Amino acid sequence: MKIYNTLTRQKEEFVPLKDNKVTMYSCGPTVYNYAHIGNLRTYVFMDLLRRTLKYNGYELLNAMNITDVGHLVSDEDEGEDKMVKGAREQQKTPWEIAEYYTDVFMKDIAALNIEKPEIIPKATEHIKEMIEFVQSLLEKGFAYETSDGIYFDISKYEEYGKLSKINLDEQMAGARVEVNTEKRHPADFALWKKAPKEHIMQWESPWGMGYPGWHIECSAMSMKYLGEEFDIHTGGVDHIPVHHENEIAQSEALLGKPAVKFWVHAEFMMVDNGKMSKSLGNTYTISDLREKGYNPLAFRYMCLNAHYRNKLNFTWDVMQSSQVSFERFIEGALQHKMGKAEISKDVLDGFLSDFEGCINDDLNIPKALGIAWNLVRYPEKSYSIYEMLLKMDTVFGLGIKDAEQKSAEEPELDSEIEALIQQREQARKEKNWKLSDEIRDRLRDMGIEIQDTPQGVKWKNIRGN
Ligand code: AMP
Ligand code: ZN
Repeated sequence: MKIYNTLTRQKEEFVPLKDNKVTMYSCGPTVYNYAHIGNLRTYVFMDLLRRTLKYNGYELLNAMNITDVGHLVSDEDEGEDKMVKGAREQQKTPWEIAEYYTDVFMKDIAALNIEKPEIIPKATEHIKEMIEFVQSLLEKGFAYETSDGIYFDISKYEEYGKLSKINLDEQMAGARVEVNTEKRHPADFALWKKAPKEHIMQWESPWGMGYPGWHIECSAMSMKYLGEEFDIHTGGVDHIPVHHENEIAQSEALLGKPAVKFWVHAEFMMVDNGKMSKSLGNTYTISDLREKGYNPLAFRYMCLNAHYRNKLNFTWDVMQSSQVSFERFIEGALQHKMGKAEISKDVLDGFLSDFEGCINDDLNIPKALGIAWNLVRYPEKSYSIYEMLLKMDTVFGLGIKDAEQKSAEEPELDSEIEALIQQREQARKEKNWKLSDEIRDRLRDMGIEIQDTPQGVKWKNIRGN
């Protein structure tokens, strides 16, 4: 399996550090607001990488953090903490908004068939580990204290900039006027911030009350859960120049050796060929898609159709055509289920090896999807094609199997519900309130809520599926 490593700017053969176990860290969401479709594209990518690794027989240990403190409005250590700002604007505590948006995020990724990473640590639950990390950096001389915090001294770490290949002198010449005059270099970054009294989120530390920098959380948590060295680190391309560069600096300064073998980054999602932004009103969410009648999995299908290292341009027209293609794909796959044609093993093996060649060539999922489409469109209908599509879908995650179960179960469920409703109506006519209530409870256990309206009895699915 080949994966493009941002560190070397090359596709490299992937070999895990240890046996067939893969350790992977994915920068997770900052939970101050709903995740937008751009964020979610990056997690679809994380999921495709996860599934491809598993398809290849690797055992996966993937940690994805929840950033619930420390991510400032600007990546350059300026402005307010996003959590504190979000909380102020929504008139809640940062902990309340973290809980709420984490919950929505978990539901969003489930709706996109994104598998839950094995470990999902929260930054606020790892303050101790972060403080210890910062202390070690101070002891080793890689950090210094100022009146407002502890900063990493990039001049002490010679390889600073190796991920983004930035030239620090050039960067300095073009830099804005530095606000923080105590910093030794404009690119020195906060490991720990001292908090003024009124700051809501703060913890005790050897440097007084304060809160951690954003970058340190990923270094501290990845080390805790995956060890000093791990295989893969993922994130969006926007993280390359600051967040990941800083993670590398911190971890390598502490360990004296590289922590991560493969840095893998997903390109951005654009909307109407431009940036997504709140002011343009185009930071769409999963519920925006649902409101317009789109299946979140049709959005997943859209993501599958673009290589993760290419920009993906979202438009409502593309969303519409993705929904149509997604539905045709699923229907086409299901049509093979009853097929009786015998397809030769050679033909089938040919499809499978082409598919494997694609996914293992730096996750060429669009091409792999094309191969699956050739199977869907195969002129003869065959159960063995259906089985092969199910196997491929362990990577695509489009839910062929679930779609089939749904279409098989629903009519039955509906007729059972209708029958129970009729029995209840009969019981009510006979004034048998006990039986009528029992039937209502039974329906509720099935996730169905009954409403007696002037137009008759109505029911709705309260489990939301
Ligand atoms: P955040 O919640 O801001 O930390 O971002 C979560 C993830 O979404 C990060 O991995 C970002 O790199 C990624 N991301 C942010 N904006 C976009 C976008 N427009 N397209 C793709 N990924 C994005
Ligand atoms: Zn991170």
